[in-house]
Amino acid sequence: MNKLDSALIEASLRSSDFALVGNVEEADVVLFNTCSVRDHAEQRVLSHLGHLKHIKESRPDLVVAVVGCMAQRLGDELFKQPAVDIVCGPAQIADIPRLIDEAIQEKKKTIAVTEKIRKPSSDGQALERFETEYGVEDGNIPGQAYVRAMHGCDKFCSYCVVPYVRGPETSRPPAAIVEQAKRLAQNGVKQITLLGQRINAYEYKAGDKTYCLADLLAMISDINGIEWIRFVTSYPSQKFFTEIMQVIAALPKVCRYLHLPAQSGSDKILKAMNRGYTSAQYLELIDMARQIVPDIAIAGDFIVGFPGESDDDFEQTVELLKKAQYKNSFIFKYSPRPATSADNRLEDNIPQEIKTKRNIELLKTQEKISGKLAQSFLGKTVKVLVEGPSKKSHKDNPQLVGRTATDWIVVFNGPPASAGETSPNGGPSLAGRFANVKISKTTPLTLFGVLI
Ligand code: SAM
Ligand code: SF4
Repeated sequence: MNKLDSALIEASLRSSDFALVGNVEEADVVLFNTCSVRDHAEQRVLSHLGHLKHIKESRPDLVVAVVGCMAQRLGDELFKQPAVDIVCGPAQIADIPRLIDEAIQEKKKTIAVTEKIRKPSSDGQALERFETEYGVEDGNIPGQAYVRAMHGCDKFCSYCVVPYVRGPETSRPPAAIVEQAKRLAQNGVKQITLLGQRINAYEYKAGDKTYCLADLLAMISDINGIEWIRFVTSYPSQKFFTEIMQVIAALPKVCRYLHLPAQSGSDKILKAMNRGYTSAQYLELIDMARQIVPDIAIAGDFIVGFPGESDDDFEQTVELLKKAQYKNSFIFKYSPRPATSADNRLEDNIPQEIKTKRNIELLKTQEKISGKLAQSFLGKTVKVLVEGPSKKSHKDNPQLVGRTATDWIVVFNGPPASAGETSPNGGPSLAGRFANVKISKTTPLTLFGVLI
């Protein structure tokens, strides 16, 4: 979601004659697009703002903006940081060019956030226009674009700040989403990733028809030029689940990948998290997904060290992770977030060392599963969308990185770079194109192979 917001902000600023520079020293304006999901992310922003305070002492004209969830959560409190000139919430990103203009011309501090975040607001329309106008290819992955299908969240999981900073759950009109996807396809985009906090809950009523995610996937599948369609993140719930799985099975453009966070394997903890399902119900969904789409890759999210999580609760999480056979899991240590019901009602009573120990154990368990799944690719040829040079790339025979439709990361030697053959982001010419790679080596997180 933040990557999409950053891309929209960048596109709108480019059209207001700004250009992106490589470092703070060259910049006239510095924007932080922030995340509030865990405290660590917020602390990093505060530390950057502290650093900018010193830079501003010698360059008082430098404009600094804090954008996104942290701006919405903390509001004018952020002006306590001397470096900050602009505070702008996620629903106000369309105002950024104007806010910057005011900060430069009038040298005043400005704030634009939603006053009552849980009430429907008129910001939605401005954001909708902004989104349609500036929806662009992802700056990091050529050929791919994020498209928001839903705003906000109404689920109120007890640990989560999202409903308080992103507002109520709303689905964008299917016609606007399809229009945006068509325009992106005309500009060379091959992969669309639909975004929503509970993307599988997408629901839009137009006349007699109710559109769900399955309809949206089918409509985007009909667009010439779009070859792969992804969607994240799904919430464990029966509603529309079968329809969505059937569309994945039926339509070759829809990637066989499901990100379905479980958060815990203990029913006691799931209840305290207000997730609304039991571990058995969660596993039933996974079984159903695999019955309809046998080769689907599934990824999970877990929080360890939630208040009251006993050794036994944690063991149940380890068991669930083993049963689910995820391709990979994102594992987080519980971070209390102000205003959430878990923080209001429950003491953060699991010591840091135990959170860390459980995090490492769960990662190790996942690594074994991922390692075995990765080995099953040995000798096989996979199709990838090439993202660009890998981190350890060599100049004369560059290593490239790509992803399969099932989200496996694949590293392989690209063709030697020749003059005039570079993509807009400087990578070798294969970036943004599809390639076939024969897998010769694997690690739990990465497949390595040879370009066919
Ligand atoms: N909407 C998605 C869902 O329901 O799973 C994910 C949203 S959240 C931004 C991404 C992940 O961050 C969650 O799946 C959860 O594992 C983790 N997360 C959210 N709040 C957290 C907290 N307070 N402490 C630690 N991890 C958290
Ligand atoms: Fe947060 Fe739960 Fe909404 Fe996901 S579904 S964004 S975890 S409140």
